[in-house]
Amino acid sequence: MSIEALVTLSRYYGSNPEYVVAGGGNTSFKDGSTLFIKSSGIALAAAGAGDFVRMDRAGLARIWEQSYPALSDAREAAVLADMLAARKPGEEAKRPSVETLLHELLPFAYVVHTHPALVNGLTCSKAGEAAARRLFGDRAIWIPSINPGYVLALAVKEALALAPEPLPSIILLQNHGVFVGADSVEGIKEAYRALMDTLSACVKEKPAIAERASAYGASPEIAGVLRELAAKTAPHTGAPWQVCFERNAALGPFIRDRPSFYPLSSALTPDHIVYAGSEPLFIPVPESPGAGAAGVIEEAWEGHLTKTGRMPRIAAVQGLGAFGIGSGEKAPRRALELFMDALKVAVYAQTFGGVCFMSPDQIRFISTWEVERYRFQAADAAAFPRAQ
Ligand SMILES: [Zn+2]
Repeated sequence: MSIEALVTLSRYYGSNPEYVVAGGGNTSFKDGSTLFIKSSGIALAAAGAGDFVRMDRAGLARIWEQSYPALSDAREAAVLADMLAARKPGEEAKRPSVETLLHELLPFAYVVHTHPALVNGLTCSKAGEAAARRLFGDRAIWIPSINPGYVLALAVKEALALAPEPLPSIILLQNHGVFVGADSVEGIKEAYRALMDTLSACVKEKPAIAERASAYGASPEIAGVLRELAAKTAPHTGAPWQVCFERNAALGPFIRDRPSFYPLSSALTPDHIVYAGSEPLFIPVPESPGAGAAGVIEEAWEGHLTKTGRMPRIAAVQGLGAFGIGSGEKAPRRALELFMDALKVAVYAQTFGGVCFMSPDQIRFISTWEVERYRFQAADAAAFPRAQ
């Protein structure tokens, strides 16, 4: 048991896109009085020993003795201040993961939290809870959709208090992901393998993301219109606005028409909001857009701005494919990567009664949450232009 083993474990899951996209997820290791937790804004795949924050476990435990304001902004700010105060001396420059409290609660030496699309097919579906009970019984706890941070940790604390011994090593978080705990590296790997194998054997359909159709290009005309609209909406962002394009066999059935697009039309998990926006835009144009395409796109774009107050990060064009929109090289690719993750989740969720979106309140919370904004900025992407 060591910090080196934690680094190896973090890189193992962080470099596997089946588990982690866009640097999401976090890991921890407990050693007596110290919790080593991944710093916010550091990707698991690239984490080194210096990227973990040493936290005083007694200081974190004291958080449960405090009473905090009922209003979420004031509460999260107060909890964050207490959490930062629990950093060990010399760790002041690092920012512990927002899920630190939850890591500390789980009575296992190692905890690995990820957002696998396969698992989220279950956690983001209408019949997910019943399926989880059927598939995993007492080996897993299901936590209903809840805002990240203090209230999520509190919900897990209460669920653990009611759980039978031995405590389950799998915590399924609705519309979010999974926490897996074990006292050894091999134990983590076994628990994850069992989780993924069970789900993989259960899902009726698998997303054909890799089957890229080459018959259609990115349509430079549509890309140009989207780039111009982005520059017009937020002219003062640093790097120029860019778009990138994706079309694959899995996406086809979802962009046939507006009703087909429904499973991708809102947010499934916080990651999707942070990088791809809470509301991917659907643009209804024919497969071979003629000269009128610019007007249709502009109308859809303006409608989206009026409705959400933010520019879209994803524009899916009927029968064509999806465009990621962002400032600089990385952000549009990230947006598209997370949209493809949502696509996978939507396909897997078909086995469990179809998708269940985050609630409007939760979407608002994540869209404006200070901690998520930090993560978004740390990922060097463009900030939400109209939210600041
Ligand atoms: Zn998470």
